[in-house]
Amino acid sequence: MKYMVLLGDGMADWPLPAYDGRTPLQVAQTPAMDRLANEGVSGLFSPIPEGLPPGSDVGNLSLFGYDPRQTFGGRAPIEAANQGISLTDHQVAFRCNLVTLQDGVMRDFTAGHITSAEGAVLMAALNEGMRDRFPTMFHPGVSYRHLVVFTGTPECTPDDCVALMCEPPHNITGQPYKSFLPKGKVAELVLEMMSCSQEILRNHPVNAARIQAGHAPASSIWLWGQGKSPAMATYQEKFGITGAVISAVDLVKGIGKLAGLDVIDVPGATGWIDTDYEGKIAAGLEALETRDFVYIHLEAPDEAAHQGRADLKIRAIEDFDRRIVAPAMAYQKTHPECRILVAPDHYTTIETKTHAGGPLPFALSGYGITPNGGSAYSETDATRTGLSLPDAHTLVAQMFQDSAISFS
Ligand SMILES: [Zn+2]
Repeated sequence: MKYMVLLGDGMADWPLPAYDGRTPLQVAQTPAMDRLANEGVSGLFSPIPEGLPPGSDVGNLSLFGYDPRQTFGGRAPIEAANQGISLTDHQVAFRCNLVTLQDGVMRDFTAGHITSAEGAVLMAALNEGMRDRFPTMFHPGVSYRHLVVFTGTPECTPDDCVALMCEPPHNITGQPYKSFLPKGKVAELVLEMMSCSQEILRNHPVNAARIQAGHAPASSIWLWGQGKSPAMATYQEKFGITGAVISAVDLVKGIGKLAGLDVIDVPGATGWIDTDYEGKIAAGLEALETRDFVYIHLEAPDEAAHQGRADLKIRAIEDFDRRIVAPAMAYQKTHPECRILVAPDHYTTIETKTHAGGPLPFALSGYGITPNGGSAYSETDATRTGLSLPDAHTLVAQMFQDSAISFS
């Protein structure tokens, strides 16, 4: 048996007034997903459990078949896994943004989309300047997205760090940041690290050159998304199958690594609407020749919605349908022992330009699945079938069992 999860990141949305109250999924021409819903089962499920943030981390964990209530421990340890950084039980990983703070305001959570090369120089400077004062190690990443690993001490244990309330900096663009600084028992330590970073960064030649060139300087670090290494059984242990993941996004690749899946890099995968769709599905179908499962993640609908661009989101959904889902369904025609699940991981709404929770539409077709009367794939069509599942990871786990799946 073969299994595919095709994930359209943030594809679900609220009704758009500019499109007669239809959602992007309703406006977009999606014959392949409509046929999937028609030939299989469609309905609503909840990748984001009550009480957890509607992030790609939580949503994708669910769509990989893990219960996020048991495995979700912050974004940073997942990204660390993707970078090959392993954490001991005494260590916590924080996401470390390079940001631009100015006059008490979060001016830019990307420090002007600082280059990776500049970021790496600054991470080295922070290691040099801070390692005698704090039990930390900075690891350079891409652009403004870096990681810092903190080794716990008796005064500041890993659990103390995990318990800190840290605000994602992209949530507070243009706002005074003071009230969003870390809160909790060991907040003082993070605040000291921030002010120490500000001293080191203030006169750094990289920033002098950026200011000279009219770019935003990286004036501070901003720590968030912290957690310990999640205790995740591998796919082999949990489901007894092999698989691969294809995504442009570090977070999704990191979950794949933690799950013991092969992470396949497609050179043209950009995370944007110009991504190499054909390259992704070709790599996915090739992966299935020697493996049981493939997870193909498309970031573009989410990015378009973060920009508030309904037109681009609709286009991204149509491209996903025609260039990923349609070829996957053609494969299914010639390989009947195959199951395909299509879903988003959360809402990303054009109206708010950010994520939202709520039940999401899914469609699952293939071997041993009896159609339940769906006619098309969208939020309202999924609601109309009357099928509503309490979570999402249970369905994914069921999909990997080769017996027929009953939804009555
Ligand atoms: Zn997402």
